[in-house]
Amino acid sequence: MEIVPNVHAIPGTVVNVYLLVDADGLTLIDTGLAGNDKKVLKYIAGLGRRPQDLKRIILTHSDGDHVGALAALKAATGARTYANPIEAKAIQAGRPSRALKVRGILAMLFKVMFIFFKAKPATVDELLSDGQVLPVLGGLRVVETIGHTPGHISLFAPSAKILFTGDSMTASADGQLRTSRGRTTWDEVKAIEAVKIQAALGAQIVCVGHGPIVRDAANKFPQI
Ligand SMILES: [Zn+2]
Repeated sequence: MEIVPNVHAIPGTVVNVYLLVDADGLTLIDTGLAGNDKKVLKYIAGLGRRPQDLKRIILTHSDGDHVGALAALKAATGARTYANPIEAKAIQAGRPSRALKVRGILAMLFKVMFIFFKAKPATVDELLSDGQVLPVLGGLRVVETIGHTPGHISLFAPSAKILFTGDSMTASADGQLRTSRGRTTWDEVKAIEAVKIQAALGAQIVCVGHGPIVRDAANKFPQI
């Protein structure tokens, strides 16, 4: 599905996976669960492009529902991979970048869930830092948005006023943005700071990891 020209959401991937189109090739933001590589490659073929046209895969964070298909996609396309150093370390170890705040029976439940979400380790080629601008969509800015995880990043393209938040925010069914909180959030205070940083960017379209795409986003940020 094309969100705006050259920005696509790949359907059916549980976690939202975004594909950006530039003259020199394609860029993917997050990969979805293990097995989603087939859906991504099918979508790329549907655009009349080859697997090798995927030049970059950017990971917002290391959770298995976002990096699960990374190893397979890297093998199929030869794309270079990008992440924050803390998340890169976790991705290369095939584990999450923070422990969940759970005990007892809930801890067991999450353990089982993480087995399901487990991602194969994959190499990260380039480490990203706050403020860095990638040559994508006329300039795609790395925005450090830690809180959900200790090295979480979002990405902002001023040319289209479009923001990709990963799990630093989610969107409810009625299109309201929500702060990352609860047991899967590494630091809730930092997560609120991450929302403030993003609210100040002037994004018109917000593409979250979980939930619908939010248009006319200015007044849909969490009130904090
Ligand atoms: Zn997620």
